[in-house]
Amino acid sequence: MANQDDTFKKVIAHAKEYGYIFQSSEIYDGLSAVYDYGQNGAELKKNIRDYWWKSMVQMHQNIVGIDAAIFMHPTTWKASGHVDAFNDPLIDNKDSKKRYRADVLVEDYREKIQQKIDKDITKAKKRFGDAFNENEFVTTNPNVLRRQKQIDEITVELTRVQEENDLEGFKQLIVDLEIVCPVSGSKNWTDVRQFNLMFGTKLGASADSAMDLYLRPETAQGIFVNFLNVQKTGRMKIPFGIAQTGKAFRNEIVARQFIFRMREFEQMEMQFFVKPGEELKWYEYWKETRLKWHMSLGMGEENYRFHDHDKLAHYANAAADIEFNFPFGFKELEGIHSRTDFDLKAHEEYSGKKLKFFDPQLNESYVPYVVETSIGLDRMFLAVFSKSLQEETLDDGSTRTVLKLPNILAPIKVAVFPLVKKDGLPDIAQQIIDDLKWEHTVLYDEKDAVGKRYRRQDAAGTPFCITVDHETLENQTVTLRERDSMKQKRVKIVDLPSILSEELSIKKWLN
Ligand code: ATP
Repeated sequence: MANQDDTFKKVIAHAKEYGYIFQSSEIYDGLSAVYDYGQNGAELKKNIRDYWWKSMVQMHQNIVGIDAAIFMHPTTWKASGHVDAFNDPLIDNKDSKKRYRADVLVEDYREKIQQKIDKDITKAKKRFGDAFNENEFVTTNPNVLRRQKQIDEITVELTRVQEENDLEGFKQLIVDLEIVCPVSGSKNWTDVRQFNLMFGTKLGASADSAMDLYLRPETAQGIFVNFLNVQKTGRMKIPFGIAQTGKAFRNEIVARQFIFRMREFEQMEMQFFVKPGEELKWYEYWKETRLKWHMSLGMGEENYRFHDHDKLAHYANAAADIEFNFPFGFKELEGIHSRTDFDLKAHEEYSGKKLKFFDPQLNESYVPYVVETSIGLDRMFLAVFSKSLQEETLDDGSTRTVLKLPNILAPIKVAVFPLVKKDGLPDIAQQIIDDLKWEHTVLYDEKDAVGKRYRRQDAAGTPFCITVDHETLENQTVTLRERDSMKQKRVKIVDLPSILSEELSIKKWLN
């Protein structure tokens, strides 16, 4: 655990030191669970957003993108169920005065048991070597069986108290499991209460005519209320999708873990409208397609896993998360939900407008079913950033800190250096920049020895460095150095644009 904490602390410190993420309003000591993206962070975030948008909208002839407002008519949130059902169960420890999400306390407890099982498996693997049969081990080893039984029992009870909204049962579960507050170490808990996560605000100046509004807690509803506008004006035929990226706001009870859980964050969502009865086929399709998108970034298959939901939201008939191996363990990165016709039907009911699709082949109208993919942009940022940050020991025994961002996402793609600040080398470097900047984000650096400049760019995540030296004056070649392999090769200046465009093309990455 200490090790995980250390890694995570390094991630946070590095994100600040290299201009990726700052605490919001830091000069006033910050605002809890709100963060700002710095000069490099804004670029990385934009690149992730573009990578998602292009894979969804540009690459699918039947998906279009919109940009709906954050403010929406308040009835939207009645229809969507957020006014009545967007609650988290919270519990306070009376000694530490710390507040927790009751479900998270139980889930963390369950995860610890899971970790014990994983440890047993690793140990047994070591002991038995090649002869080890994992399946046999987990189905016969008494310790594993006992722990698995415990996990299953907790899951059943957790699902029950959540589904039945049994707040007393929830508290009892925490008491029975003897869960202690991580801060005070005591079991002195309050009752479990429900807490609505939407931020309220007012529209209009005068007190009596002002209208109560909410800051949207998800971008999805902006898509549902525009379903017919887009379908008609875009002449879309089922199946088709509407994509959107944008800010969402949630008054999270426990907002810890840096940008993993924030009060203001950004979502990238796509609602795919399908014929009723075909939703599970499309659900499987989108699960697979989204996992492929993640894999395309090359951050290691072992760092992703699906988690099928035990407890389905009131609107869903199937749901899974893509979990990622964050510095604090596997946690939800993206959700894929089969939402049935819940949302469109609810908006029909509350608005009195028909939200149907006329199917010319069937010669009838129906309310489409929806399969949704929903990923947090900031969470994706954390996944990419934390996995990319590495300490490497080199052949000569020295170490380097390197941010091995997928090249396509890196904020600065190329840094150009003159070996020395004289003999016309800076001018050539500048000419190279002027040529490359049409396609790529490029940076100039002439300070310190070249080795030091390389290390600076390694730590900042820049995939390519170009050095102009005296040989350049003779034969118009430069040194091109790769961040990950640290390999250097001599290339012609005229070839730079094509080499870089090939390396950084979205086709190469997404394909
Ligand atoms: P969690 O269980 O972690 O609270 P959720 O199941 O409520 O998440 P969804 O409502 O399905 O999340 O939202 C879709 C995605 O939006 C999540 O997979 C996550 O990546 C992102 N997300 C949700 N809440 C936050 C938050 N507070 N900060 C950052 N990202 C978030």
